[in-house]
Amino acid sequence: MCKDMSPLEKAIQFHGHICPGLLLGVRAAEMALDYLQIDSDQYDEVGAIVENDTCGADAIQAILGCTFGKGNLYFKDYGKMVYTVFNRQNGRAIRIAQNFDALEHPVVERYRELKGRDFLDPQEEMELEDALAQVFELIMSQPLEQLFHWREVEMPQIGKARTTKNVQCRNCGEGVMQTHAVLTEEGLLCPECHLNWRGENYVRG
Ligand SMILES: [Zn+2]
Ligand SMILES: [Zn+2]
Repeated sequence: MCKDMSPLEKAIQFHGHICPGLLLGVRAAEMALDYLQIDSDQYDEVGAIVENDTCGADAIQAILGCTFGKGNLYFKDYGKMVYTVFNRQNGRAIRIAQNFDALEHPVVERYRELKGRDFLDPQEEMELEDALAQVFELIMSQPLEQLFHWREVEMPQIGKARTTKNVQCRNCGEGVMQTHAVLTEEGLLCPECHLNWRGENYVRG
């Protein structure tokens, strides 16, 4: 990704649109960069645990360079607007949680109301655009305490990404990471075939 882009620009390009959730993620990511003293050449040492898979998590990926492919993004499906970011360089980690009332503001409510409608007349279209601009301004200018609460936490005990051996599933013949294969009396099965094998749909390969 282009080095000259601001964190906000990176996030918008990655996410494909601008929205309140993304902007909150941008603020959280920027805060983590600052708090953990992460330099732009240290991104390989950074990791993040995201507790939601919504817009804000995209900002974490785009700005902090944490992705599934690189093995430094971890997903806990808790449905919470919480991000734990860590820096292996200095062994520090921060847990950033969005305040419950972070977005309680008339302009955000108006934006959501208009956004949720099936049809908007031209006047309302303009109002929606205007509301988004105001939401943008609001989130980006709000003091961090207004948006989040945070604390320094222990470094999560997560190993660096490893490459694992591929084995062949006895049933479908496809490759599966050894760490994910299940040994059964039929031989090694991939998780999908294993699930079916235990049910009724098992088709012998
Ligand atoms: Zn979004
Ligand atoms: Zn299989």
